[in-house]
Amino acid sequence: MSSLAKNYNRRKIAFKRGKGSFLYSTDGKKYLDFIQGIAVNSLGHSNPHLIRAMNKQAKKVWHVSNAFIIPEGEKLASKIKKRTFADYVIFQNSGTEATETAIKVARRYFYSIGKPKKNRILCVKNSFHGRTLAAIFASGSKKMTEGFGPKIDGFDHFEFGNHKSLKKKISNKTAAIMVEPIMGEGGIKVIPDWCLRELRKICNKKKILLILDEVQCGVGRSGKFFAFEHAKVKPDIVPIAKGIGGGFPIGAVLMTKKVASCMVPGTHGSTFGGNPLAMSIGNAVLDQIFKKGFLKNVKKISAYFHKELNKIKNDYPKIIEEVRGIGLLIGLKLFNNQIKFIKKLENNKLLTIKAAENVVRILPPLNVSKSEVDLATKIIRKVCKELEV
Ligand SMILES: *Cc1c(COP(=O)(O)O)cnc(C)c1O
Repeated sequence: MSSLAKNYNRRKIAFKRGKGSFLYSTDGKKYLDFIQGIAVNSLGHSNPHLIRAMNKQAKKVWHVSNAFIIPEGEKLASKIKKRTFADYVIFQNSGTEATETAIKVARRYFYSIGKPKKNRILCVKNSFHGRTLAAIFASGSKKMTEGFGPKIDGFDHFEFGNHKSLKKKISNKTAAIMVEPIMGEGGIKVIPDWCLRELRKICNKKKILLILDEVQCGVGRSGKFFAFEHAKVKPDIVPIAKGIGGGFPIGAVLMTKKVASCMVPGTHGSTFGGNPLAMSIGNAVLDQIFKKGFLKNVKKISAYFHKELNKIKNDYPKIIEEVRGIGLLIGLKLFNNQIKFIKKLENNKLLTIKAAENVVRILPPLNVSKSEVDLATKIIRKVCKELEV
């Protein structure tokens, strides 16, 4: 009997090792892993570059307090600064800490300019920003908040795609609008480029900060380093996590100089956040992702994958309603409940995971090969065929 609490409904598989896109179970089966720890293992399992970086740092120093200068963190932050909108970075250990810190930064910014009452955050109803208290109330989902009251105040919500409700919910107390450019848990729903640009305009006009939660869609997943780059907008604050550690827990909040100026000594901290071991691995991940041609390849392989999936959708129009997503953040929206479909894929040794709205979420590593994509599409086609009769 397991002594782990029952807050997960776990699948009855355990793994003994992984290599690239594949996982090997303790009962001797080989699975094509298109979950990758939910978009976390951006470079696949047991990546040799990451193993080397980790071993090298492990022999030097794992952890020191943020009371000291951490050169590995300085290096990672400057790497991010060089390649993104960000002027400053705060490192954390997870996505939800990164989104909470983003909220803290937005509030503290208005406090620091003498507008402490401008402190409410406007979010999408049923979005996903993590599982800490503030993050679940930011997400505004009944399922996640049920039983966890009292309600954390300071969040307002609008319906995804409802521009009227968005505009109506903005008040002079709104400090920031926080959205996921591509809703991951919410069903791989993409905010169209023009909407993101419109959002930026509204924020400018009303002097509101724009927080783009790139915890799932960021770090190369969409084929660009950030998903918002497709729309060519500039956010003020961006929490990231999942992909940046390649499997090691790292979160970060990226900010412009303007907002970062409010984060003076003592305003925020983290014991573990940004320690030398985590930062060395983060550096190794970004060295790969920023390599010339890497993101171009993500774009190329994902375009091929989308094309193949759309072919399957056209062949099975009563099963697959829509192929969603950008890059390697892919959702197959089914007409029926997706659980049976996912189970059948698993029986055929392809691992995928659900998202809201009957979506089968497909998250290969960013360095997935064409033959692995071909293997996945073959299995997906086979399952469609089985379900058709
Ligand atoms: C996963 C996720 C989070 C939370 O990250 P954790 O590391 O689980 O805390 C926050 N926002 C988005 C968009 C996510 O996908």
